[in-house]
Amino acid sequence: MSEVKAKPHNTARLAPNLYCKACGWPIIHVCCNDEMSVEPWGTDYWGYCSNKGCKNHEGEDWGQCGLDFAFRDDMARPDGERR
Ligand SMILES: [Zn+2]
Repeated sequence: MSEVKAKPHNTARLAPNLYCKACGWPIIHVCCNDEMSVEPWGTDYWGYCSNKGCKNHEGEDWGQCGLDFAFRDDMARPDGERR
């Protein structure tokens, strides 16, 4: 029997309308409720590029100012959903 339990569905998701400045792939927003909430990261949220080959795949702390490597494109979603 596996000891791994499924996380809540909102633990990780695509960030609506946010894309990587380096490659244009969608940004993934992660709620750090496990080991990333302690040192050395010590953060509540993390963001990273979904493109595995991108330099921003490692990502960064998602603070008040958002991500340095992400840009918003509201036209990319026909329903205009916002965070
Ligand atoms: Zn990227």
